[in-house]
Amino acid sequence: MFDFLILNGMVYDGSGSPGRKTDIGIKDGCIAAIGDLSDALATERIDVAGLAVAPGFIDLHTHSDFTLVVDGQAQSQVHQGVTTEVIGQCGHSCAPMRDPKLRSPMGAGHAPDAIGDKRWQTFGEYLDVLERSPLGVNVAAFVGHGTVHSAVLGDALTAGDDEDIARMKRLVEESLDQGAAGFSTGLEYWPGILAAPEHLVPLCEAAAVRGKLYATHVRNRDRFYDLGFTEAIAASRESGARLQISHIQTKFGAPDHAMEHTLEMIDAARRRGQDIAFDVIPHDWNNTSVMAILPKWAREGGVQSTLKRMKDPDVREKVKRNPAPMLLIVKARRWDDVVLLNAVTNRHLVGMSFAEIGKMRGVDPYDALMDMLIEEDDAAGRMMWATRSFRDDDIEMAMRDASCAVISDTAALSPEGRLGEQLFSLSGYGWAPRFLQYYVRDRNVLDLPEAIRRITSLPASRIGIKDRGLLAKGMHADLVVFDAQEIASKVTIKKPRQHPVGIAHVMVNGAFAMRDGRRTPSNTGKVLRNIGTR
Ligand SMILES: [Zn+2]
Repeated sequence: MFDFLILNGMVYDGSGSPGRKTDIGIKDGCIAAIGDLSDALATERIDVAGLAVAPGFIDLHTHSDFTLVVDGQAQSQVHQGVTTEVIGQCGHSCAPMRDPKLRSPMGAGHAPDAIGDKRWQTFGEYLDVLERSPLGVNVAAFVGHGTVHSAVLGDALTAGDDEDIARMKRLVEESLDQGAAGFSTGLEYWPGILAAPEHLVPLCEAAAVRGKLYATHVRNRDRFYDLGFTEAIAASRESGARLQISHIQTKFGAPDHAMEHTLEMIDAARRRGQDIAFDVIPHDWNNTSVMAILPKWAREGGVQSTLKRMKDPDVREKVKRNPAPMLLIVKARRWDDVVLLNAVTNRHLVGMSFAEIGKMRGVDPYDALMDMLIEEDDAAGRMMWATRSFRDDDIEMAMRDASCAVISDTAALSPEGRLGEQLFSLSGYGWAPRFLQYYVRDRNVLDLPEAIRRITSLPASRIGIKDRGLLAKGMHADLVVFDAQEIASKVTIKKPRQHPVGIAHVMVNGAFAMRDGRRTPSNTGKVLRNIGTR
């Protein structure tokens, strides 16, 4: 006697094997049988003839660290068939904190009081807070280098001395032992940008000896892309940590051959025995915080000092002349391809390009963005933009490598409730459907079974989740039922908060989070603490 029978679906088990028409029996939150179950008994029988059945999608790279604490229902992700998220990426995690009153989450545009009296300091306490929240998805959490750096050094513009690094290492070790799933860096961001390889290797070693993954947002992916990627490869080699290169696609301003050369460098390191994989965002639009365009010297002393500096015309000219800003598309003044994604004071401008905003305000778009940072005040750090910085041919080249996972690089949100006015990226409401629609169905970069593997068993195996990511007897019952011909993102730049179409059912730990295309009140996600390859 099963709890549920999912009957007559085209089952893609997540291994990359072709689909086969069969039935799945679910009992006590797990997959209890796969095969012809037409005569079996169950509390409920669901006929899914004509639809694809896959393991729930695993999003290996998100920034939902804070939004899940505000609202754990993860509506934007569940509607896409996501059943597990891996947070704490690009060096940004919500723990450990030096002072429990301080929090340094990235982006997301939330009000600091949005989490009521929830407090934490250590990584374990943060996971406890998540565990007490209703979660729409399972969550694995990396500990971020930037957060650990700030916990030890505050806002100081220094990489730290040997003693500081030793303290950071202890914090990483403690966090991993309390349930962090891996270690991440964001070397293009402050304060990650301060660290040299010798500061990072000891921290990567803490991950390596525990069988946990090291994920890195590399230092540069445009003009000096090769230095950025070789630094990642060297840190992995010297520490022994398995490496995940995050959102590997090179950016606007990189030489034409950059993606190909990057894959060659990775192949060369693999031939010498290194364990390296990577992931891509299935979109040619990049997203990041607006503040990241400011050079390091302009960021000293925290948000208010930065904004005060922005009022000085000489400082502004110096910022505009910055020869190597984080986004060369801004230096090239391609303002039509730079769009405001998230703001509080200027929320009415969200969805407009900086060309439009500059025209409307009658100022240089570069001045408009600095004016707007000042207007956002304390929320300036949460102002986000999207830029058309990626190329489809690069994305497709990366996807053709069998170790390339596909990720959202976004934050779990909801069009209703406390997160309603927020937006983190154009992938927020449509990354997985966009991947399956645009790159798989329309452009045929991968076939469907292989595409499903890239967002199920591949990310699970990278991070060391052994009981999810495949449809097989004994695995947790995380699954998604969708129409392979219809699945599509509905996101546009002007209307970025629309749920996708084509997803019928989503099951998380044996309970329906979506049923017949509608979100249910069920939030059965779990915090995944004991993962790793050791
Ligand atoms: Zn990143």
